[in-house]
Amino acid sequence: MGTKVCWCAVTSSPLLRVSNISLSYRTQAGDLTAVDDVSFVVDAGEALGLVGESGAGKSSLALTLMRLLPRNATLHGGTVEFDGVDSASYDDNAFRREVRWQNIAMVFQGAMEALNPVVKVGSQVMEPLRAHRRISRREAASEAHRYLELVRLPSEVFQRYPHELSGGMRQRVLIAMSLVLQPKLLILDEPTSALDVTIQAQIMDQLKDLKEQLGLAIIFITHDIALASDICDTIGVMYAGRLAELGPAVRILNKPEHPYTQLLLASVPRLHQEEQPKFIPGSPPDMTGTLTGCRFQPRCPYAFQRCLVEEPPLIAAGPYHRVRCWLVEDR
Ligand code: SF4
Repeated sequence: MGTKVCWCAVTSSPLLRVSNISLSYRTQAGDLTAVDDVSFVVDAGEALGLVGESGAGKSSLALTLMRLLPRNATLHGGTVEFDGVDSASYDDNAFRREVRWQNIAMVFQGAMEALNPVVKVGSQVMEPLRAHRRISRREAASEAHRYLELVRLPSEVFQRYPHELSGGMRQRVLIAMSLVLQPKLLILDEPTSALDVTIQAQIMDQLKDLKEQLGLAIIFITHDIALASDICDTIGVMYAGRLAELGPAVRILNKPEHPYTQLLLASVPRLHQEEQPKFIPGSPPDMTGTLTGCRFQPRCPYAFQRCLVEEPPLIAAGPYHRVRCWLVEDR
């Protein structure tokens, strides 16, 4: 687990500052709120984990940062500042040329299957270099080899087709492809969910190495809070489009304050523990409807009258630690 702590109140010029982002999707059932007033910062070299169930808004946030939201999405407000520059100051072409992949790269969920099956791995890793840098084929090949080596793949992988590689190797190829343009921030959306536990551990070790070696900032999106704690300095727990809890990973793990975070941690299976992991009863609210009170209230074992009618703000629970729960205020 990391030890570095980053927080908007003490970080005057973070690498990434996300402020009050809200967005929804038009669906046949009506407008669906995906992200609701979310703010956080990520410092250079820091790893932030965004944790929560499917539909919590994690991937939508990532797509917002990459400016790759689908057409039925509407951004209702908020700003994204990268390296001190407001993302809105770039038009689409300038953002594609100067920011996306060059400064902020992403490994998409399920992307292992998206590698082109009829193009050799080396050519696919060279592709971003050829598209964005004015370098020769030879120089691009040399860079591609360097990055394949960095993700600990043998050099012969360069000449292989994706179907000749295991799932873990394909995921490494994708990580290499995302890094060749030397971005400062890498977003990983459920990067290990399709892999078995042993390969998952290897990829996590490797990501930790890359973070240290390259001084890479990471946003690590996962439903698995234990996995996030393995690499992240800071964890943001998302529920129903909002941050439920945000703080240093070490504190979230050892002293979770939000009942949802507590249940997420209790649902993690542990070795040498006789007690069965707990499951979280119920399901997240319908995000096409009007939400009243605390969004977690129908599933919360500690809900009381106020939770039915008033939604809590993020309340300070300790140094750099905020929690969206009335219990924290009432303590
Ligand atoms: Fe539970 Fe109330 Fe806290 Fe919401 S505000 S998490 S319902 S105790």
